[in-house]
Formats: sequence, structure tokens, C-alpha cells
Amino acid sequence: MSKIDWIQNEIDNLKSQGLYNNIRTIDSPQGAWLTVDGKKALNFCSNNYLGLANHPALVAAAKKATDEMGVGPGAVRSIAGTINLHVELERRLAQFKGVEAALTFQSGFNANLATIPVLVGKEDVIFSDRLNHASIIDGCRLSGAKIIAYEHNDVKSLEEQIQTHAKNYRRALIVTDGVFSMDGDIAPLPAICEVAQKHNILLMVDDAHGEGVLGKGGRGIVDHFGLHGKVDVEVGTMSKAFGVMGGIVAGKAVVVEWLRQRGRPFLFSSAMTAADTAACLAAVDLLEDSTQLVDKLWANAKYFKAEMKRLGFDTGVSETPITPVMLGEAALAQQFSRELFDAGVFAMSIGYPTVPQGKARIRVMISAAHSQDDLNQGLEAFANVGKKLGVV
Ligand SMILES: *Cc1c(COP(=O)(O)O)cnc(C)c1O
Repeated sequence: MSKIDWIQNEIDNLKSQGLYNNIRTIDSPQGAWLTVDGKKALNFCSNNYLGLANHPALVAAAKKATDEMGVGPGAVRSIAGTINLHVELERRLAQFKGVEAALTFQSGFNANLATIPVLVGKEDVIFSDRLNHASIIDGCRLSGAKIIAYEHNDVKSLEEQIQTHAKNYRRALIVTDGVFSMDGDIAPLPAICEVAQKHNILLMVDDAHGEGVLGKGGRGIVDHFGLHGKVDVEVGTMSKAFGVMGGIVAGKAVVVEWLRQRGRPFLFSSAMTAADTAACLAAVDLLEDSTQLVDKLWANAKYFKAEMKRLGFDTGVSETPITPVMLGEAALAQQFSRELFDAGVFAMSIGYPTVPQGKARIRVMISAAHSQDDLNQGLEAFANVGKKLGVV
């Protein structure tokens, strides 16, 4: 028996349980429609909330930056890899979000891996929402701090855990997603903030699905709740609503300064390219110019969710453009997704372990890129498949 046979066994197991990821290939730019495995399909899968991933202004900015600055970053930020565009983007992001300072990373995932370990270590404790994103969980593990999960969006559970455990550690950190990506619900940040203030504990929110979506003109969850200055660290991404690539950390200047000195993905991994950075700057320009795209996103989401409810679908507890269509068993969700694809609609099923057993669903991601016709076409497909499979 070879020493890697076990891997094939594991993969076969995944296949037999219906948990194997069949990864489709896209042959078109991101937008309301995609070419998926050679077939044109209505796109209900992307986090491209504002349709910026193929926006002419962002594409032009990336081309210009490539012409002027080339393609590769050449070195890590702390040696010879910090370019004028990074500094400019960080200044603009801080201004946009109304914070003292901001720092960019290669991705939102890396932003979490960088940030949590510079705030807490082995002698400390982290209070983490049970449904936090994998990159938060990994950041928490890397820090070496004791991790204590509190019940999802349950401020009472958070406070109980703090009262029981905080005294046994040097420092504490509360960390939560802003918007939870599988259900589309929003963290009760004002109440979490009060608890953090009362117990004098650092508070960090990962607003990956709120950046460019929540708040005035997409300024994020802190703006949405009017909590400026009260959340110590905001992590975000420019790979979703911003339509490009890159992570953001925004907050107090001293935190950002500390990250520049000690954040490992900042010190040991090369940075966003000139093209990515310039495209992100163009996204900030668009968001500062007008709230039109963000308004369109919310109008589309409101319409789609209301119509889905009218058709008899259960769209869960979503408060955002993320629209889960609750189906229950994973096999049903997978079949629903295949039938939708045959009808020209690309919407993925999501099952265990990404969501709990028996809570499988199709997750529809609404975008400002969708026209009314697109949404109607999607609704018709859902209605037809829903009837065929006896869901509605
Ligand atoms: C998507 C996501 C990330 C990762 O962002 P990338 O820029 O794609 O690495 C991190 N945190 C949360 C909550 C996310 O939803």
C-alpha cells in the first residue's frame, strides 16, 4: 500500500456522502450572466454585489496601473513592496470608512490571520461567535489564545462567557462576523459594543459581506449602526462588493501601526499588485461618488426576497442581499441546484458541514448587476423547479 492511498480513500468517502466539491469553470467575466462549463447561465452565486468585478472604470484603472507599474510586487511590503498606490488606497479607505487608519492585505483571509495574533496571545482569551468564518477561526488558532465560543448572535451568552472566563486571562478579544454569509443575518453590534465597553474588552468585527453593502454608500456595519470610534478593529475584503482582491483592516492608527510591525502576512507575503490596488481605488471613487449601486443592490434584494416568499419559499432569517432558500436535506438541495442549472440558473447548494445537518439550502446572491428581467427569469425557474420537486 502506498503512503498516499489514504488520500484517495478520503476523496472516495466524500463522493459517496455527496460532500465532494465539483468545481465548475467560468469562461466569462463576472456579471449577471456567466458562461459556466460552456453554458450561459444566470449568476446567483457570486459575491460581486455591486457588479464592479468587470466595471469599465476598474478595468481601465488596472490597465493603466499595469502600464505604469508593471505586474509583480517584487518584494514584501516591509522591504521593497510598498508602492504609492498602496499608501493612497489605505488613505482613501480610512477616509471612506471614517477611521484613523487602514492597512491592506492580499485577502480578507490573510487580514484575519494577521490581525488576531497581533492583538492576543497565549496568556489571553478570545470570545468568538459560534458561526464565525473559517478565517477568523484560523486567526484565533494561530494566536495561541484560549478560544471560547458563544452562542450565535447571543449577547447574553457572550456576557456569561466573559463573566466566567475573562478574569483568568491577561487580555480578551471579542470577535464576530458582521454579516453571516450562510444565513445573511447581521451581528447585534450595538449590544456587543456595550458589553465590550462595559468589560473593557477589545472588539473586532469581520465585515467581509458588509463592506460595500451595509451603511451609507456601502461604508460597512459600523456606519450602518452609527458606531464610529466604538469598534476597535474592522476587518474587510475587497474581493466581494469591491469586485477586486485584497483585505482591509481599519481602525485606530496605533493598531494599524502595530500590524505593520508584527502582522505576519504583511511581513512575510508579497502584497496586492498595482493592478488590484488601482482597481480598488477606482471602486472607492465610485462608492464615494454615488450610492446608486448600493441602492440598486438593496432594491433588487428586497424585490427578490419578497417574490420568493410570495411563491412560498422559506428564505430564513436574512437581513441582507444574501438569500438562503431553505430546503432541509442535502440531497434535495443538490437536486434543486442541478435542476436550476438545467433551466439556465447557476445557484449552488450548500450542505453540511458548511451549514448544520438538515439545514441544507440553495444560497442566492443578489447583485446590483441583475436587471428586473434577470430576477424575474430566476424567480420563474425557482417556481418551476420548486413545484416539480414538491417544495412549494
Ligand atoms: C469571504 C470572507 C473572508 C475572506 O475574504 P477573501 O478576501 O476572499 O480572502 C473573510 N471573512 C469573511 C467573513 C468572509 O465572508
